[in-house]
Amino acid sequence: MSVIIRSISESLSEFLNSKNYTSILVISDQNTRRACYPIIKELLHKHAILTIKPGEIYKILDTCQEIWTEMTNRNMDRHALVINLGGGVIGDMGGFCASTYKRGIDFIQIPTTLLSQVDASVGGKLGIDFNGLKNHLGVFTLPKTVLIDSIFLKTLPWRELRSGFAEVIKHCLIADADKWNHIRKNDLLEQNFDELITHSVEIKKKIVSADPTEKGIRKILNFGHTLGHAIETFFLETKDKLFHGEAIAAGMICESFLAYKRKLITEQQLGQIEEYLFTIYGKAAIKESDFEAIIELTAHDKKNLGKEIRFSLLEGIGSCGFDYTVSVKDMKAALAYYVG
Ligand code: NAD
Repeated sequence: MSVIIRSISESLSEFLNSKNYTSILVISDQNTRRACYPIIKELLHKHAILTIKPGEIYKILDTCQEIWTEMTNRNMDRHALVINLGGGVIGDMGGFCASTYKRGIDFIQIPTTLLSQVDASVGGKLGIDFNGLKNHLGVFTLPKTVLIDSIFLKTLPWRELRSGFAEVIKHCLIADADKWNHIRKNDLLEQNFDELITHSVEIKKKIVSADPTEKGIRKILNFGHTLGHAIETFFLETKDKLFHGEAIAAGMICESFLAYKRKLITEQQLGQIEEYLFTIYGKAAIKESDFEAIIELTAHDKKNLGKEIRFSLLEGIGSCGFDYTVSVKDMKAALAYYVG
């Protein structure tokens, strides 16, 4: 599978000219229909577009039914193409629907958020939420291609951009110290996104291809995510609801502290990470009385082995290890360090 980072007018035209699909369905949400569809509309031959409501709460079976019904009503055959135009929600769900319709038809991803460009674009994970459980139903299927163009970021709300940037920071911290030293000198809006997207995709590709089934090294992509996910889930139903990347930023600070405590990074490196992340993301409203509930949520992390909570921890900047067991006491200390 190819990930092409180039002007969408060139990459999409080239892809379509090399194929002969019987029909094309574009799947968008209300925001990408308005902001992104006009950019590709003229590049497409005869096609149909389906627009669904935006947001994670619609990444569910009911919406899949809507998509499968549309495909069926349009008599899409096995030589039809689905184009997913949107963020990770559209990519995950549209890809899942395409890969199960008639036992699988071709689909391509046009990711339109920074998060979906630097993260969801690689690895072939597709899925939906089920009974409140995130990504509970899904498959691993590769799209025919992924076409990335930073032009779509121009209309992306700033908070969404900042959220995706946390994954860019993570990729630098776990795999490229030089790039970390480069990005940390600039604020979010001063970054060169074309360069960063290419860099992030390369890093993720390398890690995923070394361990496609997440038995080993791929776990390092979870740096910041053990406590980060727990923090995200904790705030889900509150007025302080955090975006994914905001929670991961908090998780990266806590987990860098754990690395420091094990002498895996220096105090100066911890200070550097903390300073940059706090400058970009501020501090999440975690209170000491929340610690226990947050720690309890880490028990659901997919990297755990039995009752042991497993972390991926930095081993210096630009390098990361995995399967570190961390005690509840140390997790509390990390949260206390974050709260200050
Ligand atoms: P999203 O798809 O909900 O998009 C965020 C918001 O931005 C939505 O409101 C959307 O309508 C809007 N939007 C998208 N592109 C826009 C644009 N160019 N201009 C204006 N508005 C735009 O969320 P996301 O953050 O992209 O993705 C989150 C999802 O991705 C989660 O469901 C997560 O599980 C999944 N994910 C999947 C993988 C994977 O490997 N498959 C990896 C990471 C995340």
